[in-house]
Amino acid sequence: MTAIFSSLTWKQAFLALKTTLLFAVFIFVIEFIITVKSEQHRLKANQQQLIQRLEQVSLQDRNTETLPLAEKLVDLSLNLPWVKSVEVELSNGGRFFSANKQQKIPQSFISNTVASFVDEAETSTHLLYRTGLLFTKVSTATKKPFAKVTLSYDEQYISSQLTTHLKHTFLISLSGAFGLTVILAFVFHQFLTRPVVHICESMDRINPEAPKDSLLPRLVHHRKSELGTLVTKFNQILIQFDATQAKLRKLATKDTLTGLPNRTLLLETVQIAIQRAKNQRRTFAIFYIDLDRFKNINDSLGHDIGDRYLTRVARTLKRHTGEKGVVARLGGDEFAIVVNDIQDPNRAGEFARKLLEQIQLPLQLNGHELHPDAAVGIVLFPDDGHTAEDLIRRAETAMYNAKDLEYGNWEFFNHKMTENAVASLELEAELHSTIMRELDSAEPLGELQLFYQPKIDLTTGRVCGAEALIRWEKEGKLISPAKFIPIAEQSNLIIALGRWVIKDACRTIAHWSKSYNQVPKIAINVAARHFVDPNLIKQIKAATHINNIAPNLLEIEITEGSFINNIQLAIARIEQLQKAGFSVAIDDFGTGYSSLSYLKLLPISTLKIDRAFVEGLPENDAIAKTILLLGEQMNFDIVAEGIDEKKQLEWLKEHQCHIGQGFLFSKPLSKEEFENSYLSPLQNELEL
Ligand code: C2E
Ligand code: MG
Ligand code: MG
Repeated sequence: MTAIFSSLTWKQAFLALKTTLLFAVFIFVIEFIITVKSEQHRLKANQQQLIQRLEQVSLQDRNTETLPLAEKLVDLSLNLPWVKSVEVELSNGGRFFSANKQQKIPQSFISNTVASFVDEAETSTHLLYRTGLLFTKVSTATKKPFAKVTLSYDEQYISSQLTTHLKHTFLISLSGAFGLTVILAFVFHQFLTRPVVHICESMDRINPEAPKDSLLPRLVHHRKSELGTLVTKFNQILIQFDATQAKLRKLATKDTLTGLPNRTLLLETVQIAIQRAKNQRRTFAIFYIDLDRFKNINDSLGHDIGDRYLTRVARTLKRHTGEKGVVARLGGDEFAIVVNDIQDPNRAGEFARKLLEQIQLPLQLNGHELHPDAAVGIVLFPDDGHTAEDLIRRAETAMYNAKDLEYGNWEFFNHKMTENAVASLELEAELHSTIMRELDSAEPLGELQLFYQPKIDLTTGRVCGAEALIRWEKEGKLISPAKFIPIAEQSNLIIALGRWVIKDACRTIAHWSKSYNQVPKIAINVAARHFVDPNLIKQIKAATHINNIAPNLLEIEITEGSFINNIQLAIARIEQLQKAGFSVAIDDFGTGYSSLSYLKLLPISTLKIDRAFVEGLPENDAIAKTILLLGEQMNFDIVAEGIDEKKQLEWLKEHQCHIGQGFLFSKPLSKEEFENSYLSPLQNELEL
């Protein structure tokens, strides 16, 4: 309650009320004086008029007897409301007439006061009160006065008249004062208090962290008034405050030498990266870099060159990181890089290796050639820690471990990861050069080979196709695709590898077409990443065209991963392939997440039941049964892969699966073995 009455609106209202009341009282006093004065004048005038009237009457009625005339004069006077009594004394000393009004007007404090005022004023006028007057009854004969008339005024009447008038005046002034107060309070509230309240509310909303974002709104009716100036000035202060804060923040979060974020900002950045990675279920990596021999450079060449050296290295780190992440300086010769788009250890290892290659480039500073080197520690979120502090501390530990390594100077916090990453990076580098060598060569070099596994028509037992499966011969040993295909899939290598597979398969088909009467349809595996590559169709068409082979001899096996992300693109690709005469099969069916509604849209010819569902036959047959039913309903060929037991074959034959592939018939064979086993004789029938 006190808060309400202490508000500006109420204070203004009270002040206005006090002022107007004071003013009203002042006006009333003036009014009072003026009224009393004018009343005095009016009385005098009335008196004058009465006297003239009495004289006129006495002159007009001069022939009337003295007594009746005196009575008439008395009546005439008493008729006037302000006359209280009349006395007429005849000049012959005879009769004395006197008359009095007996009215009683209640007296109040005010009327008494007013009366006393009137009284005061009237004493100066001898006509007002009981002043005797001698009128002359002009008789033609004598011209002597014949009577003396004495009037007495009714003070009570006059004062009550005056009091009533003044009461009204006072009430009018008072209500005027109240009315004015209300109007003033409203006007003040609208034009002053409300804008002030509005400013206060806006001030409450100011965010001290970002004052510039909470500038006070401009007041519509106060652009040029003092309030408008107040808002403008306050906003100027906020803008200045914001700039100062930004400067302070920069000083607190940026390294002054290199301009890179410092440890504080790095921690914030990692916290944000953790949040984002959690939301998107992704991973990210932190690289902790420590320069070698920096102390030597500083001591021998001076701090100036030391500073320039650090600045140059910082620039190299920034250039290498680009938009992929944030580089920070942790102090001295230690830096850290947070890279968001690293999803597996191999990519992290590759990033570190390339980063070191860049750091190790010689630097020219003041005529000195410097050979920087560094150790890099790597952590991955969430494998190596869940908080920013843990991740940075472990990256530092990994960096110290990297310093002791013999085979390189980068290391994961998890040493096993380093071993795996090193091995797969080496493998990737070797695979890369192998593919390039094979692609560049006109004749197959044999480092990469396609093996062929026959597909058997289960009703006739004849070969009805074959799947081309890649092998990599390295140092006399064959490496399984299960080992190197995933590495190739993580980089663009899979596309080059796919190109080679298309090229080699077409080359083989062409050779077989020339040398044998009947060539089965050959299926090649195309990885998801290659399937969405815009050049795929061109590559396939070019390979079949150059080798002059019929497109119906080539089938493309894709996995569900090829269309899960972009079904429209997959439909378009499959349609293009189909139009060109190639058939498309879905490999490993049942292991992905493709919905049956998608399947309806895809113009494919074949579904391959994944080995995992054939393995459990005949006991666990639910999925195999469903896929076979689906094939029947949708008119797809169903191929069962991974048949390596007779009981599996029996079940499949019993359930109308017409094509099979597996070790039971044959392992994948080299080109020559396949030729010898399946192509040399015109028809090769198997004992089923
Ligand atoms: P996939 O396409 O599903 O190929 C079938 C795999 O199952 C082959 O393994 C084959 O040797 C194996 N297999 C066939 N029958 C049996 C059996 O009865 N028992 C068992 N245990 N295994 C059987 P492989 O050749 O090691 O290939 C593995 C995977 O590597 C392939 O699976 C395919 O996804 C990928 N791959 C192979 N060659 C290529 C290629 O040229 N390009 C691409 N992109 N991927 C390829
Ligand atoms: Mg396959
Ligand atoms: Mg398969």
